[in-house]
Amino acid sequence: MTGLDCSGARGAATDAGTRLKVLVVDDDPIQRRQLEVTLGRWGYEVRTARDGREALHLMSEEGPVQIVVADWMMPEMDGIELCRRIRGNESHPYVYVILVTSRDRRDDIVTGLDAGADDYLTKPIHHGELQARIAAGKRIVDLQSRLLAAQEQLQIEATHDALTGLWNRRAILENLQREIVRSGRQGTALTVVMADLDHFKHINDTHGHPIGDAALRETALRLGGATRPYDFVGRYGGEEFLIVAPGLEASGASELAERVRNRIAGTPFVTSGPSLSVTLSLGAVSLRGGAEVERVLAAADAALYEAKAAGRNTSRLKEI
Ligand code: GH3
Ligand code: MG
Ligand code: MG
Repeated sequence: MTGLDCSGARGAATDAGTRLKVLVVDDDPIQRRQLEVTLGRWGYEVRTARDGREALHLMSEEGPVQIVVADWMMPEMDGIELCRRIRGNESHPYVYVILVTSRDRRDDIVTGLDAGADDYLTKPIHHGELQARIAAGKRIVDLQSRLLAAQEQLQIEATHDALTGLWNRRAILENLQREIVRSGRQGTALTVVMADLDHFKHINDTHGHPIGDAALRETALRLGGATRPYDFVGRYGGEEFLIVAPGLEASGASELAERVRNRIAGTPFVTSGPSLSVTLSLGAVSLRGGAEVERVLAAADAALYEAKAAGRNTSRLKEI
């Protein structure tokens, strides 16, 4: 073994800025301790286990690790079986597995890779090689976490409106569809509110589009504040919003619409320009036991139209 070296410490940080977690699995206490000390010096957060069974237990109890360095031959559960179990459990992020073996026969290496190992080291462990192989594992782990983050970001962008951060039209309609089906299956109540800003064109024409955009963002914030955490609030169109409130009965529907209306009309909007008096008209629909989506939307639209016709800054309710 070569002398201990601290040059890996900086490289041990993950993209998220936390230390990379390495789990050392070895039944030999001396080998285990040596790896623990060395990897610790290099800046990794090290955990240890005596065999595969203990390693799995530790990962399920204390949370995932990113890299496992496991001895091949161990009592209870060997490194090969540990690899298979880790690969069989896809619920956690990718775990990079390095098998340590004194066997360097080709067949054994193939067996290890087949079982799901990413790489292998042969005993006696050469520190330079260990460091290089762990660094290679870290590149894969970092790449995977960047891919996951990008995928998550894409998912958010695909379902949310960029201006307001609310569900976008497609997503709010999907939520509506799902909640209507649930209400049909479970016989529960559902309230849907369609809301449209009054004379919004006038706000744009008078104060400019950026102030109009700020008013849309403020409206979205207030809608969020007037609804329950498990209600869905979406931007249905330009200055039109849709609220889907699962479990809300007809008696609560008007209350919700009026609460939202008051949140908007009650306090002027503060913008970078003048403060604005903004109002909203709302059409609420209350149903129980499911209905066609088109019918629900048409009823909400009709109720909204009535609210507009009644002079705006008001709400109407329909039960279907
Ligand atoms: P009503 O009370 O009948 O609803 O009148 P209104 O002026 O609100 O309705 P109308 O449908 O005539 O105008 C809607 C306006 O909303 C016109 C459009 O330019 C504006 N709008 C739609 N999307 C956006 C947006 O993303 N940003 C801004 N600033 N304005 C938008
Ligand atoms: Mg409008
Ligand atoms: Mg409109």
